[in-house]
Amino acid sequence: MTSLEQHAIKRQLLDDLNALEKEIKELQNLTKPITPECALGTLGRFELMNDQVIYEKTLKEALLRQTKLKYALSKIENEDFGLCVECDEPISFDRLLLLPESTHCMQCLKR
Ligand SMILES: [Zn+2]
Repeated sequence: MTSLEQHAIKRQLLDDLNALEKEIKELQNLTKPITPECALGTLGRFELMNDQVIYEKTLKEALLRQTKLKYALSKIENEDFGLCVECDEPISFDRLLLLPESTHCMQCLKR
């Protein structure tokens, strides 16, 4: 990987982390426990709880991706960054740019 590519991926990582942080804050607000005061009748409360299940799931996924992105960021200066953990082949630059937290190349993922 060239240093230009590495730089581009690092920027993408930081952008993704920033966006994710905002998303997580919003989701944490949305998943606060429902207080009786904000219950809008039985049906409204039910719908609210349904939404919360979705928000909580999204929040969990966002937190997981945040961990992976932070890990990738801590490794980006390493020589083996961008190498597949399975076969040691370089992961394509396009893929890393799209998903900087990738640890596997496409070939190994398909396996
Ligand atoms: Zn591989």
